Amino acid sequence: MQLLEERIRKDGIVKEGNVLKVDNFLNHQMDIKLFEEMAKEWKRLFAGCGVNKIFTIEASGIGIACIVAQEFGCPAVFAKKTKTKNIASDVYKTKVESFTHGTVYDVIVSKEYLLPSDRVLIIDDFLANGAALLGLIDLVNAAGATLVGAGIAIEKAFQPGGDLIRSKGVHLESLARVKSMTVEGGVEFCR
Ligand code: 5GP
Repeated sequence: MQLLEERIRKDGIVKEGNVLKVDNFLNHQMDIKLFEEMAKEWKRLFAGCGVNKIFTIEASGIGIACIVAQEFGCPAVFAKKTKTKNIASDVYKTKVESFTHGTVYDVIVSKEYLLPSDRVLIIDDFLANGAALLGLIDLVNAAGATLVGAGIAIEKAFQPGGDLIRSKGVHLESLARVKSMTVEGGVEFCR
């Protein structure tokens, strides 16, 4: 998506450790007009798929997911990261390894908000190694819901997550695919 790529070129900052900072428009300050354009694009890409629930993970996916849910006219649900040892029986639970923090944490969603009748579109800000997305897919499967696909804002295509998820037959639509990035040279996109 050209608009998003242009914005990454303009305001994205490449940090050491393969981290792209996009705090100016996505991860801290949020450009809602841009989110609306992204949501329209996902609506086009997943047209006719019967999506009735948007599913994401806290925290940075939530803002985007809300705007996408508005476009699809359905609720947005976010999986919660939890440190509680005693997990209640009324939730589905999985483990996710954090790309940015290098730690493993439990992620839960209430059984009430993910139903076998749901047709779920997962939305997230970044795809790197794929751990967050795999965790969300786990929860969708645990609920017996139908996974329609996943919409990612920025896929770092030089990391293994995209190939891994596509190899599982998931309909994955990333709006910007970063081919390579360096602190000195900036960001290059897949063509
Ligand atoms: P994965 O689980 O695919 O390895 O990483 C995805 C998660 O890590 C995303 O939800 C995002 O929050 C975070 N993440 C991964 N790479 C980046 C990055 O380059 N920049 C930022 N800001 N977050 C990232």
